[in-house]
Amino acid sequence: MSSIYTGGCLCGDIRYSAEVNDSVMSGHCQCKDCQRSTGSARSTFCLFPEQQFALTQGELSSYTVTAKSGKTVTRQFCGNCGSPILSGGEGMPGMALVKAGSFDDSSWIKPSMLFWQSTAPAWGEVGDDVACMETNP
Ligand SMILES: [Zn+2]
Ligand SMILES: [Zn+2]
Repeated sequence: MSSIYTGGCLCGDIRYSAEVNDSVMSGHCQCKDCQRSTGSARSTFCLFPEQQFALTQGELSSYTVTAKSGKTVTRQFCGNCGSPILSGGEGMPGMALVKAGSFDDSSWIKPSMLFWQSTAPAWGEVGDDVACMETNP
């Protein structure tokens, strides 16, 4: 059983399709690099074998860093609007980590792991003391 899900960046330049089946896993990463590159407390990703991901429109810009592991990680994003779309690297050859929020319909995503709890920012959780509004105030 597999389904095709589509996604893209904020400005619409980048579009992709991805084949979701039982082998696709999702998770969160709270390393400082993910915090910087997303501007948020964590990155939420879906792990695909590369051949199950296809860019259907546009060209991704990329930025490569050497992670704490000593292996390189390449992050790919829209060069126009900056939306993060993909990451991957030497640590996970042949795999594409697709940013969960970039999917048009992300309702199927069920994260089952979390990396870098040790660098989780205290402000990352939505606590009971946070005023929650259904839309912008
Ligand atoms: Zn864009
Ligand atoms: Zn990370």
